[in-house]
Amino acid sequence: MSNYNPVTPEIIKTLVDIVGSKYVISDIEKMEPYSKDEETDARYQHMPEAVVLPESASQIAEILVLANKELIPVVARGGGTGLAAAAVPLYGGIVISTERMTQVLEINTNSMYMVVQPGVRTDDVQKAAKEQGLFYAGDPCSGDSCYIGGNVATNAGGNRAIKYGTTRNQVYGFQMVTPQGKILNLGGRLEKSTTGYALDQLVIGAEGTLGLITEITLKLKPLPPKVVDLLAVFPDVDSAIDIVTKVIKAGITPTCVEFMDNGTIKSVEKFLNEKLPNSENGNYIIIQVEGKDDDDLDDKSVILDELCNENGALAVLVADPQKIWQSRKAFLEAARAESLIQSKEDMVVPVDKIATLMHEAAALSAKHKLAARIASHAGDGNVHFHVLKGSMSDEEWDSTLEVFQQEIYTLVYSLGGKLSGEHGIGYKRRKLMEQFTNRDELDMMRAIKKALDPNLILNPGKIFNM
Ligand SMILES: Cc1cc2nc3c(=O)[nH]c(=O)nc-3n(C[C@H](O)[C@H](O)[C@H](O)COP(=O)(O)OP(=O)(O)OC[C@H]3O[C@@H](n4cnc5c(N)ncnc54)[C@H](O)[C@@H]3O)c2cc1C
Repeated sequence: MSNYNPVTPEIIKTLVDIVGSKYVISDIEKMEPYSKDEETDARYQHMPEAVVLPESASQIAEILVLANKELIPVVARGGGTGLAAAAVPLYGGIVISTERMTQVLEINTNSMYMVVQPGVRTDDVQKAAKEQGLFYAGDPCSGDSCYIGGNVATNAGGNRAIKYGTTRNQVYGFQMVTPQGKILNLGGRLEKSTTGYALDQLVIGAEGTLGLITEITLKLKPLPPKVVDLLAVFPDVDSAIDIVTKVIKAGITPTCVEFMDNGTIKSVEKFLNEKLPNSENGNYIIIQVEGKDDDDLDDKSVILDELCNENGALAVLVADPQKIWQSRKAFLEAARAESLIQSKEDMVVPVDKIATLMHEAAALSAKHKLAARIASHAGDGNVHFHVLKGSMSDEEWDSTLEVFQQEIYTLVYSLGGKLSGEHGIGYKRRKLMEQFTNRDELDMMRAIKKALDPNLILNPGKIFNM
């Protein structure tokens, strides 16, 4: 697996022939940003031997033909905002950055779709749709810096997944380059299809291990006429989380149901240097709902207000959307300001098990004296449980974290959950993936990888070992 060949001066010259000298980087200092993503533990970083910035699928195809012939690993890179060390070139080789592929190629307002290159930032996808009176529903908290190609490759979730699903649900189809350098279109602008294996669905979320996505056709929707964000503050985690299934059962179909625990609220307050409501003792549930008009929104807000109050809310407020979402989205950076090294667990359980998970996870982190910051896409059972290294020594951190992870994931799987709801496995969760995934399921994944990428060129060493 690691018997790859080095990127020689001859290979660099061929890469220059393909994309032009301006778009091949081999200077160590300039390549350094491509050695990592947003995982801050330096032990997950690896230097590439060359970084290439193509502008088209045909250039990418040529690079992959070359890499296959010469046995050189290739890693696709979007915005580099991943949290699983998935875009890190573990075996060196070539990083293909999509940073020059930033065009919105088409927006069709009648048929409500748009075609984009993979390097368009997610916020820009949303803005471009909005300018045409339409709505792109994908909404990861990293939208200002991640790319749409990265979102497809990781099947990014985010705040609106409870109503609109994850990135997979926003994609009609895409063009990709296979590991052997063939350009292929998967999926289609169809509302249904039972036409052989759903290969598009296999590539979405495969973290760049099965193909390099070069153009995406996205679904758009009409802009919601009215939106309100409610902030319900609860005295403890249990009563806050307990409201989640009640809100869902109320038949309102919220767009977002997000949770922040009190430690996280205080952390964000300090980071943003801004007072947040009931930050002394509150735990937040942020609920966003859409309505067809003001009356519809009022009716929904009254139902939610009653539900939250019956569940012991300290306050239910109409939130300033800018402020409340800035606070929610600052969660990661705020926790990072407290401790640069932290383990960002991204577990997902059935929604009705989230209360049990929250309770037990808090008990486990307390048992191991690990400070935790918790934010959750609670409406879809996805919990971001960040444990902070703080002033622990490396040895103490490694051994404590290992025991904590064994205990927490044993619990997660016993509840019917999985390792990652949206951040993916990458290199960082590979060992846990191999431990907690059914052996036959893992073998099936390995067989697919080997069939589609026999030379193991694309993003080797990620998700599982071969
Ligand atoms: C502050 C912050 C908040 C975040 N919030 C969320 C959130 O709410 N929801 C969520 O799901 N994630 C979130 N993330 C994680 C991250 O932003 C997502 O995983 C995102 O989808 C990664 O996109 P990217 O363009 O940065 O990809 P990268 O990090 O560059 O790459 C991620 C993976 O995708 C592959 N890849 C990238 N582009 C392509 C391509 N064109 N073809 C094939 N493979 C490709 C890479 O090889 C790698 O395996 C957050 C991260 C941060 C830092």
